[in-house]
Amino acid sequence: MKATLLALLLAALPLSAWGDKGHRATCALALKGLPPEVRAWYAGREGEVEDHASDPDHWRQDRKEGPRHFLDMEPYGGPDHLPRTVEEAQARLGGDFYRTGVVPWIIQDRWRDLVEAFRSGDAARVAMATSILSHYVADAHVPLHTTENHDGQATNQRGVHSRWETGLVERYVQPETLSPLPAEVDPRFMERPWDWLRASHALIPQLLEDDRTADRTTPSDTRDRTRRTPAYWMIFWARQGPVVTRQLQLAGKHLGDAVLSAWTEAGRPSPPAKPVH
Ligand SMILES: [Zn+2]
Repeated sequence: MKATLLALLLAALPLSAWGDKGHRATCALALKGLPPEVRAWYAGREGEVEDHASDPDHWRQDRKEGPRHFLDMEPYGGPDHLPRTVEEAQARLGGDFYRTGVVPWIIQDRWRDLVEAFRSGDAARVAMATSILSHYVADAHVPLHTTENHDGQATNQRGVHSRWETGLVERYVQPETLSPLPAEVDPRFMERPWDWLRASHALIPQLLEDDRTADRTTPSDTRDRTRRTPAYWMIFWARQGPVVTRQLQLAGKHLGDAVLSAWTEAGRPSPPAKPVH
């Protein structure tokens, strides 16, 4: 009984941001935006990085995994009042703080893993650390990962979470047409996740409004609660397509910044020599 209840609670958490396609696109964009000396670390491993980018969405059996993918801002009083450290979060919300999401601190932790991977000189480890970091960076660029109303449940728009991040991406995004943005070293990288989350959060009102607008075009008597008509998708994409595309591009750019900054922090190491056969 208890186990069933827990499974239901976990299933309700928004774990699967972007879907596999979006997470792969984030990695591909990031690697393309790296300078050659860093990109060399990934030579022949580009597929590996993409293949594992959705792994954290499959770690549901770990009860602590769900909150690693988001940060609800409302319990802290909104985007201008976010805690900077886990200690501050805990002091303000008590034991409940973890359930409201911890993605910015997980990004910091996984970024440190990447620095260590570069220091180890092991290219396979660098590829894996990049993959795992990429997941949380990409999730931080999904607007609905920054709010308690993460599935439109408070505004009678249930399902909007997957309509935006998976429905639109799967139907319309062509990853090969997205232009990579060049990575830059960011000496204050550790502070950036809060900037990304605030920018994501600011996109929510328009996103919800566009979902409602698209819905109004769909006759309610032919609509069940989950399915949407082709007209809905066309209108939602016409309005939110540029936002989806931009958020994917920015996720790729920010992952690139993270990789380049980690490599710099590690002392700009050369990639290991290819084994001679
Ligand atoms: Zn996720």
